[in-house]
Amino acid sequence: MIEDRVVSPEYDEEKDSPETEINLRPKSFSEYIGQEKVKENMRIYIASALSRNEQLDHVLLYGPPGLGKTTLAGIISSEMGVNMKVTSGPAIEKPGDLAAILTNLEENDLLFIDEIHRLKRSIEEVLYPALEDFNLDIMIGKGPSARSIRIDLPKFTLVGATTKAGSLSGPLRDRFGIIHRLSMYNEKELATIIERSASILEIEIDNDAALEIGSRSRGTPRIANRLLKRVRDFATISQSTSITYEIAKDALNKLEIDEYGLDDIDRKLLITMIEKFEGRPVGLEAMAAAIGEDKETIEDVYEPYLMQKGFINRTPRGRIATRIAYEHMGVKYNE
Ligand code: ADP
Repeated sequence: MIEDRVVSPEYDEEKDSPETEINLRPKSFSEYIGQEKVKENMRIYIASALSRNEQLDHVLLYGPPGLGKTTLAGIISSEMGVNMKVTSGPAIEKPGDLAAILTNLEENDLLFIDEIHRLKRSIEEVLYPALEDFNLDIMIGKGPSARSIRIDLPKFTLVGATTKAGSLSGPLRDRFGIIHRLSMYNEKELATIIERSASILEIEIDNDAALEIGSRSRGTPRIANRLLKRVRDFATISQSTSITYEIAKDALNKLEIDEYGLDDIDRKLLITMIEKFEGRPVGLEAMAAAIGEDKETIEDVYEPYLMQKGFINRTPRGRIATRIAYEHMGVKYNE
């Protein structure tokens, strides 16, 4: 489903074109556009840890998909001069899987766990002593002869990424010394990202074209890069040597991404709220069933942007479409 969407921030570009995706990923703070406050703070924490010759405190990064959490983790590891090992919450199925990852770490390594909110509770419990005291309690044997042994781990830094800081358990959250929320990017920042990517991909792009693509990228660098590649396809077939404003606008219209960056599924969601539910508050479950998407996707992917743009509001009784949504969908709004 969402894999097919041009504007899906969860779409995995590395599967599409591994080389370019890896090249597009910023490798240093100077290449990492925007998120000024986060960068400023991280630079201080890194410099301070380096001067004390210690590993960096554990870091939690949260925000919608495609905003640069994985990229930032990579930059942190290179600025610290340490190796990064990557895994994800759903990939760790048993406590033993986590134990194997932790015992294979080397001193000061950075362990990146994506979607950390999806770790099972039993696994989280293995993580607590590892994060706090750098040791691991393992049970050996079963029944009355079972005993627990303690293994010392190398000192490491955990960087956890999540789209939902709220679904992280309190005890896990408390073990992160540094917590940063990544925010959506503005059009100018996205245009800068697009211009940087275009130069890596060796395509010329006009500034107003980059701004146009940026304004339809839902505040998300991953989508900006993806739209750039699709627009490039249109430029190539029209035999243009550079991406002009007209080419960009025309291509985005053909991709059915409107001037707010909404695609057909966003519009379906809004029109369903307006017509099927007649503007009444709608619960997440009902909305998911009505448009045939899963709850998590609506919550993580669609809602943050629609809310940020003021198309929907969350009320205690459910989500409602706002006047702006009615106007955008061309439906008369009754007070
Ligand atoms: P997340 O882990 O939050 O889902 P990623 O770190 O994988 O997001 O970022 C998606 C893509 O967007 C990256 O491959 C990178 O090319 C681009 N990107 C993300 N953040 C930035 C940024 N601040 N500046 C430039 N490019 C970025």
